[in-house]
Amino acid sequence: MNSGEIIASHHALRENLELAAYASYAAELTDRSLQDDEAGGYLFRQLRAYLEALEEGKDPQIVTFLYEMKILEASGYGPVVDACVSCGAEDGPFRLSASAGGALCRRCFPRDPEALELAEGPWKLLRLFRRMDLTRLGHVQVKEETKAALKTAMRRLTDAHLGYHLKSRAFLDQMDKYSL
Ligand SMILES: [Zn+2]
Repeated sequence: MNSGEIIASHHALRENLELAAYASYAAELTDRSLQDDEAGGYLFRQLRAYLEALEEGKDPQIVTFLYEMKILEASGYGPVVDACVSCGAEDGPFRLSASAGGALCRRCFPRDPEALELAEGPWKLLRLFRRMDLTRLGHVQVKEETKAALKTAMRRLTDAHLGYHLKSRAFLDQMDKYSL
C-alpha cells in the first residue's frame, strides 16, 4: 500500500465517521423529542428519509437543518418565517427572533434586541424548510456563508425551544473545530 492509498482510506473513514456522527445526532434529537405515538410515526419517517439523504450524498448540514426544523415543528415551535411574527407585516427586512418565535419586521425589532440579522439567502432556505419535509428534499447547493448563517439561526431556535444538551451535537462541534 502506498501513501496515497493510506490517505484515501483515511479519507473514507473520516467521511464515514462524519456521517455516523450526524446520524447519531439525528437519532438522539428524535429520541428526546418524541412525545406521543402519532408524532412518533411522522418523525421516524422523517428520520428514515434523513438517513437515506445522508447515504445519497446530500449535504449533511443542509439535511440536518431541515431535520431540526421538522423537530421544532413537531414540538410546536415551528418559527414564523414568511411574515413578522409580531404584527404580520410582510415587507422585510426581517430579523430572526428565537424568543419571539420567528421573523420580526423593522418596526418590531425593539421587541428583541438579540434578534439575528440574516441575508436573503438564509431566509429563502428557512422558508423552504418550513414548506417541505425530508422525503421531498433534492440535492441543493448552498454557499458556505449561507450555511454558516443557517447554522447560527438553527442553533438559536433549537437552543431557545428545545434546550437539549446532546452529546452527539457536542461531538459534531468538536469534529468541526478540529477539522477531523
Ligand atoms: Zn412587525
